Amino acid sequence: MNQPWAFIATCDLVSHVRGRSAPYPKVLQSGAGVGWVPADLAMSAFGGIAENNAFGALGDLRLVPDASTEVSFPSVNSDLPPTRFFLANQRNIDGTPWRACPRTYIEEAIAKLEKDFNIQVMASFEHEFALRYSDGRTISGLPFGFDAYREVEEFGVALIAILTDHGFEPETFLPEYGSGQFEVTIAPALALVAADRAILLREIVRDTAKRFGLVASFAPLLAPDSVGNGVHVHLSLWRSGKSITYSAGRPGDLSIEAENAFAGILDHAQAIVALTAPSQISFLRLQPHRWSAGGICIAKQNREALLRICPQIKTAKQDLAKTFNIEYRAADATANPWIVLGTLINAMTDGLKRSLPIAHIIDEELESAVHVTAMPASLESALEYLAKDLVVQSWFNSEMLQTFIGIRANEAAEMNGLTPTERCARYVSVY
Ligand code: GLU
Ligand code: MG
Repeated sequence: MNQPWAFIATCDLVSHVRGRSAPYPKVLQSGAGVGWVPADLAMSAFGGIAENNAFGALGDLRLVPDASTEVSFPSVNSDLPPTRFFLANQRNIDGTPWRACPRTYIEEAIAKLEKDFNIQVMASFEHEFALRYSDGRTISGLPFGFDAYREVEEFGVALIAILTDHGFEPETFLPEYGSGQFEVTIAPALALVAADRAILLREIVRDTAKRFGLVASFAPLLAPDSVGNGVHVHLSLWRSGKSITYSAGRPGDLSIEAENAFAGILDHAQAIVALTAPSQISFLRLQPHRWSAGGICIAKQNREALLRICPQIKTAKQDLAKTFNIEYRAADATANPWIVLGTLINAMTDGLKRSLPIAHIIDEELESAVHVTAMPASLESALEYLAKDLVVQSWFNSEMLQTFIGIRANEAAEMNGLTPTERCARYVSVY
């Protein structure tokens, strides 16, 4: 290639990032993007197109890049210039939004909350992942240990540099509790930017790991009894540049609007988790005593709750109201961040529309608390709740939803007969 090329990508219903490369900057200037196919949305996690999809062999789309999502990936072989990477919307050939584009889904959710309530959501995705050496050796070191940190420090420094260079504002990089597990957190941003960054961050982590002889996995579990890799989504509500989430002295210090919004998430939670934790191993992680999300409730500073009211650091020299946020803990990296956050926003809009109250804020351990709804025991159970929740269904284009459900059936069939250990290993191989 004599001229620079760029990779233009979407993130699909199994949260894999796929796309095509094309000459740069022409591909940005033309506005036409690169070619794409509707049935690509039905690609399963392990390859192959799910049979029960709505699109068949028909149609043509364009992946139209959004220049604001640019990430420059340093070359593995230093002779090559960096590879430019852009996230794209899927558009019809006349340039209009494609009805089943996941990025358009979150854009519409954001626009609806804005239009109906003049509210913007700020969000930050907190990611856990596991590292191992590419030759299979494991990372040693204690949970949260300086030795584990030092063992991958070159990777960590390179990761922080690329995140910083692209404006992600990394806040922490740490060795987590699990063996070889690490976590990276970034500053909150407006919802679309936050979801874009979640997609980009996973690719950056994987790519950077590779440059340092490591392999990163975001699979929800490496093995049935291992520590989970969670994706926690921190949320706050804003109006005209001011957070409207905090109201000192009210239950949980939640403003009335925040109470209504988060009640919307609780009200639809059993169906929503099918969309935020959609793999065949996701619900092995969403069990009590795993510090993931062991029960459906909102609780103060409790790492077992679906929604955790995060603490306010009173000594920090910052505006308490500005940093106050609620954490949704039941997502993992097998879910598309555009769909995760778009769905949480749609649930919040519904809660606001119905002025839904939160009946109970839990401030004790979940097992001694009444008023905690059980998490669906499996993805199949969550999908049954989704099949009954017509409100959640109404947020989706019907073909997109049909395809999502078709993919899940396909994935269940692929996992048939495998032990939980074998299932986890399959997911580790692709996430
Ligand atoms: N690893 C836990 C999970 O699966 C999260 C632990 C934490 O609170 O950081 O979600
Ligand atoms: Mg963590």
